[in-house]
Parts: sequence; C-alpha cells; structure tokens
Amino acid sequence: MEEIVLIECPRCQERTAQIRDGRTPAGSQRYRCKHCRTRYTPSPKDRGYDEEVRLQALSLYLDDLSLREISRLLSVNHQSVANWINDYATHMPPNLPPSILEIAILDGFYTPPTRPRRRKIGTSESTNTT
Ligand SMILES: [Zn+2]
Repeated sequence: MEEIVLIECPRCQERTAQIRDGRTPAGSQRYRCKHCRTRYTPSPKDRGYDEEVRLQALSLYLDDLSLREISRLLSVNHQSVANWINDYATHMPPNLPPSILEIAILDGFYTPPTRPRRRKIGTSESTNTT
C-alpha cells in the first residue's frame, strides 16, 4: 500500500499516485508522478542551502565583504552567493531579522516597497544559476 501524499504533479496536475522517489543531494524529498512519470521535487530546499546560510551571506555582504570572501567563509559557490544577493535585492524575505533589514535599509541595499528604490545592486559577477 502506497502512502498518499497531498502534492500535485507540476506537469499534469494530478494529485493521486504521487510516489516517493528518493531524495535530492540537498536532502529534499523527491516524488514521481505515476501518470506522466515526471520526477520532481516539491518546494526545493532553497536550492540546497538553508535560509540561515543565505542570511549569513547577506549579512557579510552588508559588512562589505566581497562575494568571494563570503563564498570562502561559508563554503558556498560564489556564484550562488551572487544569486542570493541579487535575489534579496529584488525580493526580501518577509521573515528577515529586523537588524539585518535595518542595516539593509540604511545602506541603501534595500528600500521598503512604499518608497522607490534608490539604486540597484550591481555585481561584476555573472548571475547564471549553477
Ligand atoms: Zn504527472
């Protein structure tokens, strides 16, 4: 008897016969749709990194560390760090700690939605996803 999971196939939108199919390298549960045989991972775990690590990266970035320094400190691909910084520049998570948010606003890194953005974060790094 297979376990019933309330998830939806991203391809055929079926909610039945979605079976577990191992895990991703990051530890997220993968599923397979028995209807269309699509294998997928619902709610991927932040592309493999915890939110905490991402926040650390942002915090270090606001401390004027370079992307490469951050990547070395956190043992994260600097490409990923660049992507996170860009992500946060356009979409701050709602649960961002007030201290970081405040620093971000003071630094001009982040502008609350009620005010127009003053400047854009520019990096010389490519933002290709890994
Ligand atoms: Zn399907």
